[in-house]
Amino acid sequence: MITNWIDGAAATADSGETFETIDPWTQVAHDTVALSGRSDVERAVDAARRAFDDGPWPRMGFAERGAILHRLADLIEANADELAAADSKDMGKPISAMLAKDVPRAAQNFRFFADHARMAASEVYPTDTGHHAYARFESAGVVAAIAPWNFPLMLETWKIAPALAWGNTVVLKPAEDTPCSATIMARLATKAGMPDGVLNVVHGHGPDSAGEFLTSSTRIDRLTFTGESTTGRIIAAAGAENLVPVSLELGGKGANIVFADADLDEAVKWSNTAIFTNAGQVCLAGSRLFVQREIFDEFVERFVASAEALTVGAPDDASTNIGPLASKEHFTKVAGFFADLPDGATVHCGGVADDGSWVVKPTVITGADPDSRICREEVFGPVVTIQPFDTEEEAIALANGTQYGLNAMLFTENLRRAHRVSAALRAGTVWVNCFFVRDLRAPFGGVGWSGVGREGGNFSREFFTEPKAVVMHP
Ligand code: NAD
Repeated sequence: MITNWIDGAAATADSGETFETIDPWTQVAHDTVALSGRSDVERAVDAARRAFDDGPWPRMGFAERGAILHRLADLIEANADELAAADSKDMGKPISAMLAKDVPRAAQNFRFFADHARMAASEVYPTDTGHHAYARFESAGVVAAIAPWNFPLMLETWKIAPALAWGNTVVLKPAEDTPCSATIMARLATKAGMPDGVLNVVHGHGPDSAGEFLTSSTRIDRLTFTGESTTGRIIAAAGAENLVPVSLELGGKGANIVFADADLDEAVKWSNTAIFTNAGQVCLAGSRLFVQREIFDEFVERFVASAEALTVGAPDDASTNIGPLASKEHFTKVAGFFADLPDGATVHCGGVADDGSWVVKPTVITGADPDSRICREEVFGPVVTIQPFDTEEEAIALANGTQYGLNAMLFTENLRRAHRVSAALRAGTVWVNCFFVRDLRAPFGGVGWSGVGREGGNFSREFFTEPKAVVMHP
């Protein structure tokens, strides 16, 4: 059974209730999970509150705290197989991707923020009056973290690591579809020497369940959320009610522009990675491809071939590129887009598997009206639309034509155009001739419906601390 983790120990729900976590490949439950009620969440917040108000964690030096976070990173690496299997069973992600990307990045998140917090400098302000003024970055308190199911361990650590490095305590609510890795991680944190109550995990659903009980608590100091834009509005309202600062990492509809002068081999390779990684269940997915008309036919032909070359199969098979979608509910949602394709749309490859599995094969669509649902809404599956354009201005207008603005990509060998278009795109991140290259110091976040605030390096510090001005008479 997957338990909560409260005050340094495994805990079942007070009610004794559980729910099942389903393996989307076999479509059967592979474990049961504690279903937290309000009292369980309150106990977790109590533990985090005590650990912050009276415990050693916020009072430790950065070196001592950092050493514990580095030990946790070591343990994540040492337990890579267990963590990889947990997320893979919960949401169907190929185990090879977990071992190559998600688990190493989870360890890196702890290492990076431990070192970043320790190395960070503050500012001193020379004043006209000779007063000595400087800024302190003080721990904010108890952080409530609500996570999605698409990169469970990786995204949970991306929130928790900076929160902990800056001396906060945490109550984490993982997504109900992907509970397993969070409890393993919390157990490893205790083993690494993290004091009791510093990292707590409560399982359950969102509305009228653990998620809502946590976000409505009056005893939290920060609310960090990653998930759908519609849920983000509810979380923002919960933060507003108690005047708790909120960070929102939300959905996307990434534009990917390929100019005629691009290196086509590179453009095809990265565009494929951008939409088909994790079966397209990626907030940053390059789901809207815009290709300059001169190379449109050639690009589509090569891109379709690259999509058809991907291996769809069992998540625990090392050769699998694409597993099932994460849940029956999500599969039904993605399949719904196929039932609602606009007139004129051509499906070149892929589609919904008709074998009873929850698989959607890598799908390439041309000819869809840019105002249709498939072109405007976040599909969150391995489905890309491709549309031709003639001029740079037209490409920019098309790319900026949604309410989302998480990220965009462009492929060109023209340096001036690369800078010009990067500046014109309405997005939190722009990748030029590449995809998903991350520097953890750089800002990460979205414009419009894609989020509020930024994470990464000093941006995470801004959110997870209370900056304080100290002014001293000379
Ligand atoms: P979701 O919004 O359905 O759920 C996210 C989390 O919120 C879950 O833990 C859920 O239990 C909880 N929740 C739901 N309703 C709640 C409520 N009323 N109160 C409190 N908690 C509540 O999102 P999802 O389907 O798990 O994740 C997919 C979405 O996340 C996609 O839209 C994707 O683009 C987005 N995402 C964004 C980023 C980013 O960095 N911008 C990263 C990954 C995923």
